[in-house]
Amino acid sequence: MGDRTAGLATAAAHARAFLDQLDERPVAARVDAAGVRDVLGGPLPEHGEDPATVIDALVAGADPGLVASSGPRHFGFVIGGALPAALAADWVVSAWDQCAAFHALSPAAAAIEEITSAWLLDLLGLPDTSSVGFVTGGQGANTTCLAAARHAVLARTGWDVGKHGLMGAPSIRIMCGEQAHATIYTALRLLGLGADTAVRIATDDQGRMEPDALSAALAGGEGPAIVCAQAGNVATGAFDSFARIADACAAHDAWLHVDGAFGLWAAASPSTSHLTRGVERADSWAVDAHKWLNVPYDGAMAIVADPDAHVAAMGLAGPYLVVDPGQRNNTNYVPESSRRARAVPVYAAIRSLGRAGVADLISRNCAQARRMADRLARLPGADVLNDVVLNQVLVRLPGGDDANRAAVAAIQRDGTCWLGGTTWNNEYVLRISVSNWATTDADIDRSADAIARAAGQI
Ligand SMILES: *Cc1c(COP(=O)(O)O)cnc(C)c1O
Repeated sequence: MGDRTAGLATAAAHARAFLDQLDERPVAARVDAAGVRDVLGGPLPEHGEDPATVIDALVAGADPGLVASSGPRHFGFVIGGALPAALAADWVVSAWDQCAAFHALSPAAAAIEEITSAWLLDLLGLPDTSSVGFVTGGQGANTTCLAAARHAVLARTGWDVGKHGLMGAPSIRIMCGEQAHATIYTALRLLGLGADTAVRIATDDQGRMEPDALSAALAGGEGPAIVCAQAGNVATGAFDSFARIADACAAHDAWLHVDGAFGLWAAASPSTSHLTRGVERADSWAVDAHKWLNVPYDGAMAIVADPDAHVAAMGLAGPYLVVDPGQRNNTNYVPESSRRARAVPVYAAIRSLGRAGVADLISRNCAQARRMADRLARLPGADVLNDVVLNQVLVRLPGGDDANRAAVAAIQRDGTCWLGGTTWNNEYVLRISVSNWATTDADIDRSADAIARAAGQI
């Protein structure tokens, strides 16, 4: 019999070396995928190699193609790093190799999902009777929540979408803010609702849905309706007005879904919780763990206020499946059947931070975003375009779109930090997201200096 632990010591040594130089390695990758293929590719190996040799070769070949996205100066997309406890817990998950679908397969995984669910609902200020599914990301969470929404709004008309599908069903009115995240539209496509059927509700200068426009749209038609609101605009960090939107949804019996992939975490800090006021009145919420909670990829939560709707949409049953009465079967809340014990790193992250630590992480990153905005606002001709209410900063450098594109490329090449661009009000702008537990004020200053150097060159 082979040594089960062969390779683990090698992997641990490589992981330690990577993490020890994470703060100082250039943030961008040094090669593209072709550079990695050249080293790791070739024909299918005819004969095997021992685990340590495989790990050595894998690490050597992959390293130049790695992005230091879990490091403290990656400000692109909304990424987040890996808290030490969450990373270590993730290793344990792989060592345990539990199939976390059913209680019978892992009472531990069932219990940890239950505990973590309760902690999350407490941290986020959501109804403690809600159900939580641990999915792969915001995409999976939006899809799961909207599947529950589709089930519930059709059930109110007497239609069972689980049994009969959408053919012949009453049509559902979908309403999204103009700034809804792309994954909402993918979810609508997957669910047979269609991306273009959604009515786009007007948004204000920060990307917030106009509640009056939503009310008018709801009043202008009949039938089942689903409204997708947002906690944390991916460009500006802005929050929809949940209390007013919830009023409008209640008046028309519409399901209110909130995409809070990163922004819902604002609820966990007294410094930002006012931004989420009223969000607890929604019917479902999508929130990532791998972004702002700094859990390693991948992990997110699909939260539904009505567990029956959640299970009706996602539940799995079959004659050969062992169901222990009264026990949680994790698969009933997610699209997957077999899956890893994805809640375990989330549990470890929350336990290592505590309520106070989560609040501190959120408020610290928000303060750092303001610090970055203040520094960049002082560059000659530069404009900060958003109200920096959260962790997102939009900056426009002088010289037009081409100059801003060139600046983004120069910043990425320089390697001190990494940020991307986006289009805001038809202009190309720099976009910064601060969402890493390890980012220091010194990292902000050093990055602002690098951005200033790039701006000076163009
Ligand atoms: C990141 C993000 C998503 C998608 O989340 P993934 O984890 O990438 O699947 C959805 N909505 C918003 C607002 C996001 O920021």
